[in-house]
Amino acid sequence: MEHEKLAIHGGKPIKTTPYGTGKRFGEDEVKQLIEALEQNTLFYHQGTKVKTFLREFNELYGAKFSVAASSGTAAIHVALGAAGVTVGDEVITGPITDQGTLIGILYQNAIPVFADLDPHTYGLDPASIESRITPRTKAIVAVHLAGNPCDMDPILDIARRYGLKVIEDCAQSYLCRYKGRLAGTIGDYGCFSTNDFKHISTGDGGIVLVNSGEEADYHRTHAFADKNYERLGSTVVRDLSYLAPNYRMTELQGAVGIAQLKKLAWICDKRNAYGDRLTAGIADLPGIAPHRVQEGNHGTYWFYMMRVDESTLGCTRDEFSQALRAEGIANGAGYIKQVVYMQPMFQNKTAYLGSRFPFELSGVEYPQGLCPEAEAILRTAIVIPVNEFYSDSDLEETIRGIRKVALHYSAERNTVA
Ligand SMILES: *Cc1c(COP(=O)(O)O)cnc(C)c1O
Repeated sequence: MEHEKLAIHGGKPIKTTPYGTGKRFGEDEVKQLIEALEQNTLFYHQGTKVKTFLREFNELYGAKFSVAASSGTAAIHVALGAAGVTVGDEVITGPITDQGTLIGILYQNAIPVFADLDPHTYGLDPASIESRITPRTKAIVAVHLAGNPCDMDPILDIARRYGLKVIEDCAQSYLCRYKGRLAGTIGDYGCFSTNDFKHISTGDGGIVLVNSGEEADYHRTHAFADKNYERLGSTVVRDLSYLAPNYRMTELQGAVGIAQLKKLAWICDKRNAYGDRLTAGIADLPGIAPHRVQEGNHGTYWFYMMRVDESTLGCTRDEFSQALRAEGIANGAGYIKQVVYMQPMFQNKTAYLGSRFPFELSGVEYPQGLCPEAEAILRTAIVIPVNEFYSDSDLEETIRGIRKVALHYSAERNTVA
């Protein structure tokens, strides 16, 4: 059975029905939006919607303080600013991520430094982080990629030893857990995105968890998302001593966020089950390395990323991806095309047009091969989309499709050899 003719060679495809879909927004969002408009203000500090959204987010996360922002990118910038990251500092992060991880670092005129990743969880490799530390290092941005937590204990240990701040980028990682603890509550700050592609959407938006529980940290973070105006006292203080952007969330986003939060646990449970069952269904295959969630952790799969071993399978990653697509199984060859430091802005050191600032403040270089494991991951990865509306048969067919293609190529290779 498992050695049937591949669809790409004219065989019968495994999946011929469309993937499950569903409505993300419903009457609850409509009701919240109408209430927001009826307040006669859409300003977060006067209305109740952003405040309620944050209060409920805090309850969900067991957190005392959080701050709303206009995007996940903004949330990360706010955390960096509140953490004191400034001109000439170095910030260590991973090279497989969204640009939003890097934007705030460069707008603070700090310099991104890239550490390598674990080959199977795709989280930051603590040993590589430690090898990148210099006297300029100020912070680590730990990206929990695709709903899978980084190995936080050794990262926190490094941060403690070198006096660094830890910011968790949880844009892809709602309700994922590291040794039972919610990602986003472990470092100094946890940053989330509610852009339209994430587990929950407010169109655009972001949240920063302030984990110290200290009022002064909360006030500084709150101000950094709002031009550094201090609004939490009895009068607004506008005596500004340093620069901060306007990254305010509006009441419309807060309103939609309240309704979306009610669905979050269900969304994450569905995605967790889908990803873990996919791993169970393909773990025995030759030449396939499943998306590894470390024992004791909990993944909420923003996407599922497995790796193919081209020499075991005797086909290239791209051939595997095309064969899988011919079977009717949605997939992408890799997540981003190349590690972020291969972008022209890092290769040419031009964050700002016509200038080498702030790169010229540090001796950091971005050669190809800087993070060999991360580069290898992107050359051999296949991304399988995960969605809370996918059905059991979508999952079963995905497993059958991957099995068919992997067993076909590995059997073919063994008969040739
Ligand atoms: C989406 C994303 C961001 C940025 O979020 P936006 O809301 O799009 O600004 C940052 N980091 C990661 C890992 C992301 O996936």
